[in-house]
Amino acid sequence: MSSSPLFYQAGPAMPEVSHARGVFLWDTEGRDYLDGCSGAISCNLGHHHEGIRDAMLAQLDKVAFTYRTQFENGPAMALAQSLVDMTNQDLEKVFFVSSGSEAVESAIKLARQYFFARGESQRRHFVSLRPSYHGSTLGALGVTGYQPLEVPFADITQGSIKVPGPDFFRRAEASDDAHVRELLRQTREQIEAAGGDSIIAIVLEPVGGASTGARMVNKAYLEGVRELCDEFGCLLIFDEVLSGVGRTGAWFAYQHWGVVPDLLTTAKGLGAGYYPVGALLCRADIVDTVMANGGFQHGHTYAGNPLACATGLAAVEAIRKENLLDNVAIRGQQLREGLDALKARFGFVGDVRGIGMLWGVELVQDLSSKAPFPAEANLFARVTALAKEEGLLIYPRRSLDGLAGDHFLVCPPLTISEQEVSLLLERLSVALQRLES
Ligand code: PMP
Repeated sequence: MSSSPLFYQAGPAMPEVSHARGVFLWDTEGRDYLDGCSGAISCNLGHHHEGIRDAMLAQLDKVAFTYRTQFENGPAMALAQSLVDMTNQDLEKVFFVSSGSEAVESAIKLARQYFFARGESQRRHFVSLRPSYHGSTLGALGVTGYQPLEVPFADITQGSIKVPGPDFFRRAEASDDAHVRELLRQTREQIEAAGGDSIIAIVLEPVGGASTGARMVNKAYLEGVRELCDEFGCLLIFDEVLSGVGRTGAWFAYQHWGVVPDLLTTAKGLGAGYYPVGALLCRADIVDTVMANGGFQHGHTYAGNPLACATGLAAVEAIRKENLLDNVAIRGQQLREGLDALKARFGFVGDVRGIGMLWGVELVQDLSSKAPFPAEANLFARVTALAKEEGLLIYPRRSLDGLAGDHFLVCPPLTISEQEVSLLLERLSVALQRLES
């Protein structure tokens, strides 16, 4: 038994971190690591960002915490306005939380309360994709489509109607268009089977995260889902906990395709790794309906506190001031070309997909059949360990539900420079070479 009082999910022994600057971290032995996954796709501005540090210290010197029922606070008002502006007023109301799971939980509850207030309490089902990840709290886990996480809790979560999500790499159909048509057909069939007027919302990640290795949607798919929601009178929720706040080169990923959701969740990059802050963005009339009918029966103690919001505000301002959406486009392209070159070089790199500074690499045993490596090969853990030995952090996952194989995310801070992207690719290439031999 370990002598440490800390416990984590099972994993290999970890080095102890000493300090970090920019895209690099150092352990207590003096080794450096290039942060190729922004921690948990959260440290979007790199480490030790002076603007954020200064904003946090300034806020600490004023007031760190006030409770939302006692005071309004300037940073919360300013950050809420900033978020609304980032959507170009597509979504006009903001509810703060402290994590991605809390944001999804809030979306689920607000959507249900909206229909409850409208006398449509028969609406009790959510539709979500398999695979997907929406968080670890029971509501968010209920809409999550990732079997290893679902199984122990299947009979104590409400669950959701799971429909297959887009997989343009392994699609069985002859074309992307045919694939999208088939997915939408299956989704419609499931909705009709449950009863169209029993659905509260369809929930999806516009760009998948760790559960899918950055699987993408396309415009036709999102438009089709939007149409289904409109036809059946349910809401569309985009989970942008991971893809929001500049990660994909737009403020929010949905803006690439121009399909607007009714509710949107975001977190991770909003606090930029400095303080937990998340948000639920909503259509104004949904909030008005709920507020006119007794208010939103939901809240979290730390939600929207001044220090959290000052941090979020500084992160958003830094992205603006440093033109990081442009940097994402340019350096994201460099990263994409480099990853494509690795795919051409290593036969077991089956797919490189993503957008902006959010890339997924899927490993396959056989390129033509796209067959995954057997689970016992433990490839996702091996590639991660080798990358770490070479001084590179990546974010791995293996799909245990047979829907995909081993994949990892490459998603460095949005601040990464040209030389740092080259170094990232160099270290990854050595790790893949060692994996091959
Ligand atoms: N939704 C998505 C799309 C996520 O990627 C995550 C975190 N990986 C969550 C929700 C949950 O966020 P948190 O870990 O902050 O609770």
